[in-house]
Amino acid sequence: MRKPLIAGNWKLHKTLAEAQELARTLKDKLQDEQRCELVIAPPFTALAAVAEICRDSPLQLAGQNCYPATEGAFTGELSPTLLQDAGCHYVILGHSERRQLLGETDTFINAKVQAALAAGLKVILCVGENLAQREDGELFDVIATQMRLGLAEITSAQMAEVVIAYEPVWAIGTGRTASADQAAEVHAFIRGLLQGQFSSEVSESTRILYGGSVKPDNISSLMAEPDIDGALVGGASLDSASFVAIAHYP
Ligand code: 13P
Repeated sequence: MRKPLIAGNWKLHKTLAEAQELARTLKDKLQDEQRCELVIAPPFTALAAVAEICRDSPLQLAGQNCYPATEGAFTGELSPTLLQDAGCHYVILGHSERRQLLGETDTFINAKVQAALAAGLKVILCVGENLAQREDGELFDVIATQMRLGLAEITSAQMAEVVIAYEPVWAIGTGRTASADQAAEVHAFIRGLLQGQFSSEVSESTRILYGGSVKPDNISSLMAEPDIDGALVGGASLDSASFVAIAHYP
């Protein structure tokens, strides 16, 4: 069966010292966690130091982005290989903040997905609609397009290294979580897309995380849904007590 995955996206938060302190506390409190796979995504400046702390612990590292090239004249960018060099096993791609604020297209995101997988990094691919799209009835079209273009040229075998994160934009950082029913509806839709785009096997084995105002008090109802395989947590992952409570959901 699909092993639940709880991931913390620290976004643009935490100095080096703060990141090290949070990582030490998480390592201490989550040392014995076996039920869930645990991933944290600190800012790039803290990756190597946090990787050192998380060695021999259940905590794995993710980069928050990467550039689709191995090396070259790409000022300000990081390759999948450099993320691995800093200790990452995963990279988060296609986050709505990058789509909105930095104009990332599905085609560009797909190039990153391909580059990351080719380098041996696992991918957490984020998809999700904004409020206007939901209100205009475009929800399923938006998700279908992001899935089709974002995963273009990816093989069924490569899908073993891909996790999907459904993050409705209107629920990110707003305190307005999608209800478990709303999330479950879209997760089931995504599972159907995976079946059409790949196979039943891929559809059944791919983990689909929910992200958007996940907190200790709503994680259990989300995780009770059969198609929700974990969470991509933003704000609540910045505080050790709340991230630990989410990872230890009843
Ligand atoms: P919040 O949990 O702060 O809503 O952020 C969700 C998110 O964007 C995780 O990637």
